[in-house]
Amino acid sequence: MYTRSFDLVNTFWYLEYEKIEELDNLQWLNTYLLPPEDQLDTISEEALTVLKELRQFARDLFDGNISEDVTAKLNGYLAGTPYYPRIEETSNGSRITFKPNGDGVAKLLTDVALELATLLTEEQISSIKRCQNEACGYYFLDNSKNQSRKFCSKKCNSLIKTRNFRARHKT
Ligand SMILES: [Zn+2]
Repeated sequence: MYTRSFDLVNTFWYLEYEKIEELDNLQWLNTYLLPPEDQLDTISEEALTVLKELRQFARDLFDGNISEDVTAKLNGYLAGTPYYPRIEETSNGSRITFKPNGDGVAKLLTDVALELATLLTEEQISSIKRCQNEACGYYFLDNSKNQSRKFCSKKCNSLIKTRNFRARHKT
């Protein structure tokens, strides 16, 4: 549900793991952050800067590290990325949907800002955690009833469990 904001925020996973800034790599951006219909041939420095700023803002928000006015900041992003209504045919008639204006980056910004605003208004920010596999550090939304999830995925969960098991049973 909140895939785009987590996709953007978690580009830092790659940053920490491989010590490179993946957002500067257009091919990577096209492959992992933009859908097939939004592929880019070029990206302006300006657009990249805005994207990186939003990523940092989202990270700070998830970490509870925010000193600025979150509502004003998010409203700024939302104001800059208008949606337009359109009719979409469905299997049992038609419905009105809202599409963001602009290219792939503008759409990404709109989607991420809207997801962050939704997380904020539904008071779910406090349920966002970081994966306890240190080599991962992925942010994820803990939807479990008792808020007990420690890992972003089954893969990280079993990796760390196996590692802890081996450490305990070392001879
Ligand atoms: Zn993980």
